[in-house]
Amino acid sequence: MALINIKNPAERVSFREAVVRGLGSAQGLFFFESIQPLPNVYELLQADSLERNTAILGHLVGDEISADRLKAMIASAFDFPVPCVPVSGRIDALELFHGPSLAFKDFGARFMARCLAGFREAEGANTPMTILTATSGDTGAAVAHAYHGQPGIRAVILYPRGKISPLQEKLFCALGDNVTTFAVDSDFDRCQQLVKQAFDDPGLRDDLGLNSANSINIARLIAQTCYYFEAVAQKVRGLSEKESGALLHSLVFCVPSGNFGNVTAGLLARALGLSYKRVIAATNRNDTVPRFLASGNWDPRPTMATVTNAMDISQPNNFPRVQELGERLGLDLARILSACSISDEETREALRALYVDGYLADPHSALAWKALAGRLEPDERGMFLCTAHPAKFLEVIQDALEIEVPLPPALEAVKD
Ligand SMILES: *Cc1c(COP(=O)(O)O)cnc(C)c1O
Repeated sequence: MALINIKNPAERVSFREAVVRGLGSAQGLFFFESIQPLPNVYELLQADSLERNTAILGHLVGDEISADRLKAMIASAFDFPVPCVPVSGRIDALELFHGPSLAFKDFGARFMARCLAGFREAEGANTPMTILTATSGDTGAAVAHAYHGQPGIRAVILYPRGKISPLQEKLFCALGDNVTTFAVDSDFDRCQQLVKQAFDDPGLRDDLGLNSANSINIARLIAQTCYYFEAVAQKVRGLSEKESGALLHSLVFCVPSGNFGNVTAGLLARALGLSYKRVIAATNRNDTVPRFLASGNWDPRPTMATVTNAMDISQPNNFPRVQELGERLGLDLARILSACSISDEETREALRALYVDGYLADPHSALAWKALAGRLEPDERGMFLCTAHPAKFLEVIQDALEIEVPLPPALEAVKD
């Protein structure tokens, strides 16, 4: 489907161009000009994951990548499980953290890396390519792992010094080779600004072959629509079309949100015909969007540090796409989307409550559970997205629960 720069709709680009450039002129985001729903959502939900994901991404990408090639890219990018785990009677946890960097960002980063590598290969790969990205922690790890060792591609990652956990930092700063990392004496928003500034410099952009692997890249975003379908598929397997529809219409997703890429992907899935009931975007005290939805005023405040530091963002850079989905693409956002802000104290309480119920969540996922559990209506079913493995945020968990969290192999390998 055709893509436009949402700041300048006359700028129409191919999927390849949108992925390679990352951002359009005037730092505008690329997004779909229109969205045709998938014709056969029920059949897709009954199909296996690889068939389904190939159909979804093929529908979005169009004929720029052949179906066989796309299928191979998806098979190698999404080669880890996505379990949907019952947590209480009406609430499930969708665990998105079983990839190499233990956070959901592996989905987007790995798919995008395969898109870029494929486009480079097709073009002879003689030009330099530098992935320049800002991270509040998990993006850096996912991007570093996705590009580490890729011939001809450099990855450069900026992050706010002292504002990400030590283990988190080691997960991407200890790779070396073609991955270079910089600690910036400021917050994430500043890192993001530096990246945008670099992209606004045409000389720099061309000389280095700059590409941002941030969640602003359309390749990352579309990859994330797949797990919304996967979540539903696991719930409706074997059900009739009618039963499947009834379950879908009662389903509420809750997404721990920072830059709002994950929520955008969920809304994109909705626009593609996955007609779940509604989605709650849960933020920490950096509550620009909840305040905006309540008042209509866009009024970002200075970014605050919280126990959910991957969401310490006060100027969410994907939000213009959410607005596009409402304004240009016809989603009834007033009905489908709500947002709320959860305090650190509530997040700690949520960690404890979940743990008592037998589920160990990371703080971001616990925050989403809290928002969902408090807002689920009696006739609804809920699913909260678990965006990181609990061991990535050891300090917060050990502090709130007074337990030792065993390290998974990926973290054990870098801890010293
Ligand atoms: C990036 C991240 C988020 C926020 O996702 P967005 O798409 O930026 O809203 C939430 N939780 C974790 C663990 C993350 O790494």
